[in-house]
Amino acid sequence: MTSTEAPIGVAIIGGGPAGLSAGLQLVRANRRIAILDSNRPRHSATLRSHGFLTRDGAPPLELRRLGREEFEAYPSAMYAQAIVREVAPLERDEALAAGFPDGIGFRVRGTGIRGAADAEYVARRVLIAAGLTEELPALPMIRAYYGTALHSCVECDGFEKTDKPLVLIGETSDLFARALLISRFSSDLVVFTNGSDAVRPEQEAQLAAIGIRVERRQIDDIVGEKADMTGVRLADGEVIPRVGGFVRPRWNAPVEFLGDLDIARDGWGLIEVSARGETSIRGVYAVGDIVPPGPQQLIIAAGNGATVAAKLNMDMIRGALGVGRVDD
Ligand SMILES: Cc1cc2nc3c(=O)[nH]c(=O)nc-3n(C[C@H](O)[C@H](O)[C@H](O)COP(=O)(O)OP(=O)(O)OC[C@H]3O[C@@H](n4cnc5c(N)ncnc54)[C@H](O)[C@@H]3O)c2cc1C
Repeated sequence: MTSTEAPIGVAIIGGGPAGLSAGLQLVRANRRIAILDSNRPRHSATLRSHGFLTRDGAPPLELRRLGREEFEAYPSAMYAQAIVREVAPLERDEALAAGFPDGIGFRVRGTGIRGAADAEYVARRVLIAAGLTEELPALPMIRAYYGTALHSCVECDGFEKTDKPLVLIGETSDLFARALLISRFSSDLVVFTNGSDAVRPEQEAQLAAIGIRVERRQIDDIVGEKADMTGVRLADGEVIPRVGGFVRPRWNAPVEFLGDLDIARDGWGLIEVSARGETSIRGVYAVGDIVPPGPQQLIIAAGNGATVAAKLNMDMIRGALGVGRVDD
């Protein structure tokens, strides 16, 4: 079992850029911090990450390795390779007995992975940095091209697609805005709604005015030769030649570990937070891709982690003095 008898300041769930960045700030604030991570980076499907200052083009796991090394260099840092299964609030008496002066605390339990021990911590605060899980449109071959020919983040991968014949595939109401963003990179774009009414007729007319076609027929599959995408096959058999582009997955916030604890979400399923990064559950904060508004990028997640770490630290200082929260 990876744990400490002594209670800790913050248990961070997720060791991506958001969690690692928050963790670094908090150990540097002399807090005892545990990061519990199941090591499934959202961008693991890709070979190179773009746009992170000083690390443009770095492989995703390299960024994490560097971040983890920097975090673990501090004596109050703890890192556990574990899937968090349960976050349970302490009773006020238990929290006070654990030395948490504002009577708020949590027990966080995780199952060890890759031979690592199970992990359990008693923490004054919890920071959720668990990223997103993605549900791609149900096309048999789409996974084979995701991360190479097809991407979800226009800001991250648009540059490499400049002037190519592209697709945008999705079924959500933000398709129009995404198409406008992609038009910065290529005017040879077909928007596939896969039989949905995600693009309104007036939006279709606006896209047509800048040369972008909306294809409303149902998609059968993505087609290609070996690793290269060559087109989109429609349900009626017609193949529209395309070499790559973007897909809009549906996102899910993976917070099953909260059990019966009710947490507020927005219309996209992301976790709602206050200006200081606190969720609707007192003492539970959230950062990174799992919170709106994005853009969902590594450097934004890391910046958000640092911002919320500062607010969280101040919340704990103020909580100990009984003077209310930051921004209250
Ligand atoms: C294909 C693809 C390519 C991308 N390319 C780029 C790019 O080039 N540049 C860029 O800036 N952005 C890119 N992104 C976006 C980028 O990956 C995200 O914005 C960033 O990873 C978000 O960081 P995060 O820390 O919020 O979440 P993540 O990086 O997803 O980290 C979350 C961590 O939490 C862990 N976790 C989840 N649940 C639990 C649990 N119950 N217990 C313990 N741990 C848990 C996960 O295993 C994971 O390690 C890309 C995304 C995709 C999908």
